[in-house]
Amino acid sequence: MIFPLKGNARVKEAVEQFISAHRMPHAIIIEGDPGTGRHTLAKYIAKAAVCEGENRPCGSCRSCHLADIGTHPDIEWVAPAEKKKNISVDQIRELRTTAYHSPHTSETRAFIIEQAETMNAHAQNSILKVLEEPPGKVIFILLTVAAERLLDTVVSRCTVLSLFPPATGEAVKELCDRGYSRDEALAALGSESGNVGKALELLGGKNSGTGAELARDYFAAITKGELLNAMLLTAALESNRPEVDKFTVALKELLHGKIKDSMAYPQTAREYIAMLDAVNGFEALLATNINLGLYFTALTSKLTAVRNKK
Ligand SMILES: [Zn+2]
Repeated sequence: MIFPLKGNARVKEAVEQFISAHRMPHAIIIEGDPGTGRHTLAKYIAKAAVCEGENRPCGSCRSCHLADIGTHPDIEWVAPAEKKKNISVDQIRELRTTAYHSPHTSETRAFIIEQAETMNAHAQNSILKVLEEPPGKVIFILLTVAAERLLDTVVSRCTVLSLFPPATGEAVKELCDRGYSRDEALAALGSESGNVGKALELLGGKNSGTGAELARDYFAAITKGELLNAMLLTAALESNRPEVDKFTVALKELLHGKIKDSMAYPQTAREYIAMLDAVNGFEALLATNINLGLYFTALTSKLTAVRNKK
């Protein structure tokens, strides 16, 4: 069966991977704004959980058919009762009892909890008990606008899948692949109506040009631990001294930004500060006519070492 959502490549990859590896998480949070496909994705995962076919969800077995028309006995939806604003603690207690019974016809039983943020703390603590000691053969799928509206203890026991409108999802991924953080990407796309090119211009600002662009890619390679890739990137600069200066300025600016962004996470901030110190230290060497190949080799291994020290 074809994955039902456009865009959202990362989510697609993650979901297809855990389904094909038969390693379905026992609890999933699907977060996203209305219209991003939370229900569609929940149905798809639940269908894969109950499917009797080979390539799940096969789309042609009896279970898939029942899932499609919404009458599969092992797929249960939970939502605030009619005229109620919240999912009650009683609803969750009932769900818990059911969860410990064997599935009716399939291998797995799926519970889909809509508007999960409407569970009050009591209800969330009640579901937490079942998430902490999940019965076998059960999957819980919580749908919400934002996972942060749920208790940390609940979120920490779930695999979180974040959905974006198709265009934005792809655009965010593209910007993140270029070394920008998700928040930077979302902010830039927000002010440029989702236009990747314009968002890049905005993010790059005056700081454009080969050296500056390479600094982004280089930083991304270092943080991913791709040492060889980082070296290959700087190879292009070895014969172009003016771009080396732009590269260094851009790398430092980028690290200043990362330090600012990570103030709430002292360990991460310390790592960026150490990286900035390394760049500053090496910059002095540039005034000494050092061989640029050597310079980049030394800088790259230093930055990688700092990054791995955590
Ligand atoms: Zn099937």
